[in-house]
Amino acid sequence: MTSRSEEAVLSALREVVGEAHVLVEPDMVAGYVRDWTGRWTGHTAAVIRPGSVEEVQALLRICHSARMAVVPQGGNTGLVGGSVPHHGEIVLSLRRLDQIGPIDTGKLSLTVGAGVTIGSVQEHARRAGLRYGIDLASRDSATIGGTIATNAGGTHVVSNGDTRRQVLGLEVVLADGTRLSRLDGMSKASLGPDPLQMMVGSEGTLGVITAARLRLLPVEAGAPMVVLVAVETLGEGLRFLGPEVRAIEFFDRACLEAVIEHRGLPKPLSSEAPFYVLIESLDPPRVPEDAVAVVDRTLWAYRESITETINGLGVPVKLDVAVPLDRVDGFAIAVKDLDLGGETYLFGHLAEGNFHVNVVGGHDPEAVVDRVLELVVGFDGVIASEHGIGVAKADWWRRTTEPAILEFQRRVKEALDPDRTMNPSVFWGD
Ligand SMILES: Cc1cc2nc3c(=O)[nH]c(=O)nc-3n(C[C@H](O)[C@H](O)[C@H](O)COP(=O)(O)OP(=O)(O)OC[C@H]3O[C@@H](n4cnc5c(N)ncnc54)[C@H](O)[C@@H]3O)c2cc1C
Repeated sequence: MTSRSEEAVLSALREVVGEAHVLVEPDMVAGYVRDWTGRWTGHTAAVIRPGSVEEVQALLRICHSARMAVVPQGGNTGLVGGSVPHHGEIVLSLRRLDQIGPIDTGKLSLTVGAGVTIGSVQEHARRAGLRYGIDLASRDSATIGGTIATNAGGTHVVSNGDTRRQVLGLEVVLADGTRLSRLDGMSKASLGPDPLQMMVGSEGTLGVITAARLRLLPVEAGAPMVVLVAVETLGEGLRFLGPEVRAIEFFDRACLEAVIEHRGLPKPLSSEAPFYVLIESLDPPRVPEDAVAVVDRTLWAYRESITETINGLGVPVKLDVAVPLDRVDGFAIAVKDLDLGGETYLFGHLAEGNFHVNVVGGHDPEAVVDRVLELVVGFDGVIASEHGIGVAKADWWRRTTEPAILEFQRRVKEALDPDRTMNPSVFWGD
């Protein structure tokens, strides 16, 4: 697109949202074109900040007819490079869609705008004596739209399921400005294939999520207890799983040492071990009497500081993968044995065999990605467990997805976004 026609599109976009919500100055757009890890920095003609679904529709119509590509963005906490413009796309920041509707106690649900943070939904639910099933350390920035677009998991999947399980309905705007909406909040409906559920995990490539109807859960009686246990193997940690467990997380010694050193936290346990398992449980968990363990709610700080601590050590290559539960220890040993060049940190969500493999100061990122994902495939695992595909794993996603499924996905993309203006670098990009 020539700069003249680009200027004409920008001026049409300004007409829709107003001058104040079209950001073009480099210092104003800087925080929108760089991802949270610092691994990807792109560029954009403008960041547009719509304040209503009608504005999103009008903006997409303009971009669609000008064949101008768009990257939807929520809190920009995504870890696979999917939320930033890699090739000069317009950034559509949805954070101003921050309306929170009333709690519907009859349907145990509420409707919120896509830009509402997870932390705000949790707080709103808590005030009504309810809770939202998703929790993650990025809760104060990550948005409902972004977590639905990535089908985020987080720390309570073992008890509440992933984001898909919390979504009762959506409002979505397609590339051509068409609005699809189902926000009635009924928890059970048999109305044929559900086009809105297909938006869960679509990472901004099929449409823009503008609002969601979310399932809320009753609060359990009593405060849960939090226990940190030192273990020799992850298999040992899996034996602590039971119906009383609300969350079960793990991290290796390298993670704990980094958090202690860089966050100034005290040593939580007297002795050292290869792995630590953090359990949040409604009743005392099945931890043997002689285990090295400590009980304290503040122990979550160790687990929740890991991602930020590692980011402070350098630009990490982050891989979010999962392997079958009976292979977690084999995988942990094998990944530590790989020649990745730098320091490898392992942590994650134990009940799903979900490892976050973080490498700081390692070889070329592509080589690190290839070596770890090759190993995951060899362990019958999944190359993306909760962060999505983005650009980080697009190539591996195409290589490892069954051809018939890939063809189906291609047809869906072509039907909904034939000009490939919706987040073109994700899944299908180079
Ligand atoms: C400290 C830290 C801890 C984290 N812990 C976890 C964890 O435990 N579990 C986990 O799953 N993730 C975790 N993450 C990753 C991240 O928070 C999630 O991927 C989250 O879902 C991203 O939400 P966001 O609003 O920041 O989305 P963004 O980063 O802005 O976008 C992510 C993707 O969604 C698309 N998107 C965003 N909004 C919309 C919309 N309204 N409509 C359509 N597409 C949209 C974007 O185009 C992009 O492809 C963590 C990140 C950090 C920094």
